Formats: sequence, structure tokens, C-alpha cells
Amino acid sequence: MLVYISSDSFVSLVSSSAESYRKEVGGLLFGDIFQTKNKKLIVHQAIPLLSAEQTKTSVTYHQIRTPRVTKMWDDLSTYWPIGEFHSHPESKGNRHNPSPSDDDIKCIKDDNIELIVSIRKSNRRKKLGYKRREKRIAGSVRIYDIEMACWQLDDAGTPRELELWCPFIDVINWGYRIGLVGKPGSLFAKETFVLATTLRKLRKQIQSYENYVITNETTSGSGKIKTRIKAILKTIKSDNEDD
Ligand SMILES: [Zn+2]
Repeated sequence: MLVYISSDSFVSLVSSSAESYRKEVGGLLFGDIFQTKNKKLIVHQAIPLLSAEQTKTSVTYHQIRTPRVTKMWDDLSTYWPIGEFHSHPESKGNRHNPSPSDDDIKCIKDDNIELIVSIRKSNRRKKLGYKRREKRIAGSVRIYDIEMACWQLDDAGTPRELELWCPFIDVINWGYRIGLVGKPGSLFAKETFVLATTLRKLRKQIQSYENYVITNETTSGSGKIKTRIKAILKTIKSDNEDD
């Protein structure tokens, strides 16, 4: 099964992991399910749970408050509940690793996926990419080193790692490659000036790119969209050079 991370959910996952850095954050995933040649899941929304009890090595959902969230989403959301996520922040004696602990495995329900974001601060900025035979997303997001892995239990209750895709990380890397930012791991620098209309165009093209990759299960053939996105990024770069 393939699991796609939308640009919006990618930003939620990494920002909530960074917000509660040194403590684990956890939350719910909502998205879409496609049963084509390969079963595909798309994570559209990642909602951190505010009432969860967070420690350096665990996150426990509130038994009374969490159902308020799930019920609200059941009643309002056009997305499907597809699983949960939590972070593994770096701590003493703890490896920087997005593999599930024994307790994590006990908490994964039925067909749900469990996304784990391991996060640590790092001075070395690395480009985002895929590792572990294309299953994990790894690299820098701002000042953090992240590694994201997705798990599901097989019939015997053993966790198996699912292939993760995030077309948005290509866009982040293109921006870096054309010199929009000086370091990898950010789409914009703090001082980057962007018009709202330009952002709207960029967002539309990113959505087209995501849809293309999800539908075709490949990035090849997406050249036209890639060219359009790069052109917008180049416009943003030249707008900032004129100042
Ligand atoms: Zn865990």
C-alpha cells in the first residue's frame, strides 16, 4: 500500500512535532482511500490532540476529551479517519528513530495507519528525500532533522512499514535548487516576500502536481506541471532580488 502525505498535512505533522519538541505530540489523521492497482491512502489532515498527556517518551490521549474530536470530525469532515500520528523527539538514551515501540504497536488499531515523525535539532541542513528503500521521508525541515515512517499491522499483529510519498518535498527541493532559499529544508526564507496572488497560483500548481503523482503513482510525465511550479518559484526569486 502507498501512503501519500499532502502538503498541508506535511506542514501540520512537522510543525506540531517541532512545537512540542522534547515531548511527544500525537493526533489524528484524516484523508482518502483509493482501491486501484495498489491500495492508496492520502493523508489530507493531521490534527494534533490538545488534551493529550505528553512526556518525552509517550503521548496518551484523554479518554473523555478525545472522543469530542472524533465525534466532531465524524459529523463534519468530508475526509475519512485513516489513523493516527505521533512524534519521537530526540532525548537522552533514545534513538532518533520513527520505528514503533512495543507500546506503540499495542495501540495501532485494525486497518489504521500510524505515522511516526522522529525529530531532532541539527546544525547540518540536508535536502528532503526518501530512504530505507523509498519508504521513509527524511531530511531537514528548518533547523530540525526529521524522519517520517508509516506503519500498519499485518494479520499476525506485526508492524509492517508502508511506502510513504510526499510530492511536496520535491517542490521544497526545487525552490532550493533554483536558489530561492540559501539552505535546504525551507520553501521560503524568513525575509522572502510573496504576493498573495502568487501564493494562490503556486498552491494550485502544487495541488495539480500532488494529484498527478497520486493518480499516476509516478513523477515521470509531470514535466509540464514541474515547469510551471519552477517558473512561479523563479518569479518569487526575481521579485525578491529587485528589492
Ligand atoms: Zn512511539
